Amino acid sequence: MTTLLRIAIQKSGRLQEGSLELLKESGLSISNGKDQLKTQARNFPVEVLFLRDDDIPQYVEDQVADVGIVGENVFAEKKKDNQLIKRLDFSKCRLSMAVPRGENYTGVQWLQGKNIATSYPNIVKDFLAKHNVQAGIHEISGSVEIAPGIGLADAICDIVSTGSTLLSNGLQEVEIVMQSEAVIIASPTLSPEKQKILDKLLFRIEAVKKAKN
Ligand code: ATP
Ligand code: ZN
Repeated sequence: MTTLLRIAIQKSGRLQEGSLELLKESGLSISNGKDQLKTQARNFPVEVLFLRDDDIPQYVEDQVADVGIVGENVFAEKKKDNQLIKRLDFSKCRLSMAVPRGENYTGVQWLQGKNIATSYPNIVKDFLAKHNVQAGIHEISGSVEIAPGIGLADAICDIVSTGSTLLSNGLQEVEIVMQSEAVIIASPTLSPEKQKILDKLLFRIEAVKKAKN
């Protein structure tokens, strides 16, 4: 049996198109995973698994997948045994702190003793520790930006791309906590055969990038 490198990508969402495009531009012939969980490239020893992005770091740690494409924000939040192999230049966004527009925000110390709603508790915890600020963290999985308006939190930390969602919820962006883009993550313990396939794929990705510039 030939060795296949298993690559996990997002099943649907903001990473999916860029991930598939990257693999296809690298010369992999793969069918779109509308209803399927996995598909094998016809011309390259790769199997693509379609998963929820949030689950990918765990699958890579468990070695169900060898490699994954996720947002750097998800990689940083999950703190799994994953290696960041390469930044990919798509699905760019930032994770920011935002507070109600009427507030006179004077700096990170403003957050002292406050309550912050976020889907990224580990990243927020690290940010607060770095700035010597003690604040409560209220973890919620979606619609984080409505939290201050309903009295659930004083501030939020969430993904911002254009800022229009913040604006329509009466919030102002006050701190950039991290910049993010799609990244390739991998298990730190790939077999030599799998490492070789990954190296070949990375070489092709580099070549595509050079051709574009
Ligand atoms: P779910 O898991 O429920 O599908 P999600 O928010 O995790 O929701 P997406 O909205 O598809 O899924 O976001 C996936 C990743 O894409 C994020 O983790 C982030 O890295 C990136 N991203 C999110 N929002 C944007 C955006 N507006 N522009 C560019 N990239 C974004
Ligand atoms: Zn997700």
